[in-house]
Amino acid sequence: MIPELIKHSSRVVICTHVNPDGDAIGSSLTLKHYLERKGKQATVIVPNTFPDFLKWLPGADSILIYTKQQEQVKAVVDAADLVIVCDLNQPNRLAGLEETIMASSAPRILIDHHLDPNTNFCQEIVSHPEMCAAAEVICHMLNGWEELDSISFEEATCLYLAMMCDTGAFSFNSNRPIIYEYISRLLAHGIDKDEIYRNVFWTASEGRLRLQGYLLYVNMKVLHEYHSAIITLTNEERRRFKVKNGDTEGIVNIPLQMLGTRLSIFINEDTEHPGIMKLSLRSVGDFPCDQMASRFFSGGGHKNASGGRLQCTMEEAIQHVKAAIDAYADMLKA
Ligand code: 5GP
Ligand code: MN
Repeated sequence: MIPELIKHSSRVVICTHVNPDGDAIGSSLTLKHYLERKGKQATVIVPNTFPDFLKWLPGADSILIYTKQQEQVKAVVDAADLVIVCDLNQPNRLAGLEETIMASSAPRILIDHHLDPNTNFCQEIVSHPEMCAAAEVICHMLNGWEELDSISFEEATCLYLAMMCDTGAFSFNSNRPIIYEYISRLLAHGIDKDEIYRNVFWTASEGRLRLQGYLLYVNMKVLHEYHSAIITLTNEERRRFKVKNGDTEGIVNIPLQMLGTRLSIFINEDTEHPGIMKLSLRSVGDFPCDQMASRFFSGGGHKNASGGRLQCTMEEAIQHVKAAIDAYADMLKA
């Protein structure tokens, strides 16, 4: 029982997936504030850095980053008597952090909303793939414990941000009425949802806006017949445009604004591992991005949003992506 595990814990580690996004950080920080309110020590650990537009969140400055603070992370995990794993379905999504977490003898709880969770690496599993965000899973749990109406302003802020980020500000994967019931209860805690929106979506640097123009004007390839688009970004271009952490967030969604587009793929050279191409896939409607990502790009995710990777040059990656698109011609061309 999760409430029992929490009750008997005193030092809790909360960890989430590599390249943490708004849901990963928002959900993890919600849990931290919740646990601290219950008198626990709680530390959020992430495998690598997270975008600047999440740094204003309450508690964000206390997050430990494994790639930068390995010794500190190991010490905190070592001392933990409970581990909560949030917003991921496979231990390898912890990237380098996986070994440290799995070496701990503390019980592990998984809180997630991805498809096909690996059920072997946590003792307690709360998995709801139908939910829009790990934060919705947390709302659902708090509601079940009759605690959703007594959370703090900080918890409400983090929960709202997380659901907003994982649904593109409630523009996809967000038709279930209960989401808005939760939001209405979060608003009752006094959160300013308009300010949260601006803090996340209206913080572009000049570089980001110019990069966006360049990527759409020069780099976007539209495969009209396939109702698909591909956008690429190399590390050389990153340097040229002084691209900062987080500047590429959301680029993959832009081609979906073109009438009739069903699939958008962003091929993004990894800043930390040059030569690795990270892929982001987004679709509208029935197109299964997760299936394509697992079949062609060693990845996975959700039906309308998935990711993966390729180890090759950008030119080779483009060819590979085109072949993957062609393999789904029957769904994309018709
Ligand atoms: P993004 O494009 O934002 O990096 O990823 C979108 C979604 O795809 C993530 O929320 C995550 O669920 C999934 N995803 C991204 N990369 C991978 C990967 O390498 N493996 C798996 N299994 N899922 C991924
Ligand atoms: Mn999520």
